[in-house]
This record gives sequence, structure tokens and C-alpha cells, in this order.
Amino acid sequence: MVSPAIALAFIPFVVSLLIRYRHYFLLFYRAVLVRWLRDYLTGITKEERAFQYIMTHAIPGDPLHILETFDQWSYHCEYLCNLGPQKAKILERLIYEKAPLTVLELGTYCGYATILMAQSLPLGARLYSVEMNPCKAAVAEKVIRLAGFDDDTVELIIGSSEEVIPLLKEKHGLFQADFVFMDHWKRCYLRDLQLLEAHDLLPKGATILADNIICPGAPHFLQYVKACGKYKWRIHRTSLEYFRGIRDGMAQITYTGLP
Ligand code: CA
Repeated sequence: MVSPAIALAFIPFVVSLLIRYRHYFLLFYRAVLVRWLRDYLTGITKEERAFQYIMTHAIPGDPLHILETFDQWSYHCEYLCNLGPQKAKILERLIYEKAPLTVLELGTYCGYATILMAQSLPLGARLYSVEMNPCKAAVAEKVIRLAGFDDDTVELIIGSSEEVIPLLKEKHGLFQADFVFMDHWKRCYLRDLQLLEAHDLLPKGATILADNIICPGAPHFLQYVKACGKYKWRIHRTSLEYFRGIRDGMAQITYTGLP
């Protein structure tokens, strides 16, 4: 039995922990507890619930309005780990700046970044988006088509990046990716970057933008990028999607083709 005096001595420690990590507790509450409860009550996934909201609140054929509706849902209803408006500005600016003709996205999720990139691409460009979870891919497909992008502009590929990347040339006709956006499992970033290199899918000057390199982080990926001598890199400091109190960042790297 713990004496009341010892228990009281721990109170300041517990309070300081709660204050220090309040944003993470809130994230856990919104991303995990609320999701569990609503999954149980509705019998459908949070991504399907988000799509129902999009269907009733967004303007079909208007990509930006669909993104704004996603943001409203994620701020005020349920947390979705979409890219969010702050990081969207970084991605959109880069797409306009680089004007890539071929884009590879790893991790479609609900199609938020897919729509953002598709509406910023130059005429005739094509986006290939890879999602391993068939349920999330089904939601993304509906969202992408609702935004007005057909299969000629956005090809959604269902499968794990490890299986899909080696088949991109032969099966999907993607011979080189001018721009790669990584937002799938962070532990796969390094493996997939090396797969892209091994299959000669990166032209010299290709840009790779990798999300969440601070939260939850991809330290081995960053170490490799910094040490291998094949890339120029910079970090865009930002906050976690829909959580201004949690630090995060995006790594922008450029393939130099050396050494
Ligand atoms: Ca992300």
C-alpha cells in the first residue's frame, strides 16, 4: 500500500507530465479513443465516415473545396492523418515550382495529397499513387473521382510499395518519376528510396518529398540521405497535421545522380 505522503509527492510530477505532453494526450484521445468509440457505434471505418461527410458537404468536381471539407472534418469531427493545410502549401508550391510530368505517391490514404498534387500538375502530367490498404484505397478512389480526376491523370495502384515499385516500368508504364511524395509507413522510406534507385526510377534532378520525418520520424532514411552523397536535402519545419502544438517536418531531397 502506497502511503498518502508518497502519493502526494508524485502529484506535481504527474501534473507536469500532463502539461508537457498535453498535445500528445489530445492526439491519442482524438486519433485512437474517439475512433474506437465511433467505429463501434457506426460499424464503419473513420475513413468511410469522412467520405460520407465529403459526399454531403463538398462540391463535386471542385478539388480545393473537397480538401477544405476534409480539413473541416479533421479539425472539428474526427482526426484524420491527411496532409492538412499547412503542409499542403509546401507540397503545392513544390509541384508548381518543379512542374513534374510524372509523379509517384507512396501512401494514398484518403486521396488528400493526391487531389492536391493532381490539381497543381502541368497539362499532360500523370500521377501514380500506391496504397496497400484496399479499404483506404476504395475511399481514395471515390474521393479522387469525385474531384474530377480520371484514370488518365491519376492511376491508383493497390499493393505494397515493396511489391509495386519493381513492377512500375513493366506493369504500369512509369519509367522515371520526376517527383516522389512519400507518406506511407515511415520505416519503409529508406527501403523504398533504395528500391527506386535500384530500379533506375529517379532521373537526375528528381525531387522527393518525405512527410513526417520528425513525428513519428524516419531517422535511418535521413541518415542515408545525408551520408550517401547522392542527394541535396533540406528540411521544411512545420507542425503535425491538424496539431499545431506537435513539431514535425518534411524532407525535400534532390537526386543528383552522384557519386
Ligand atoms: Ca503524413
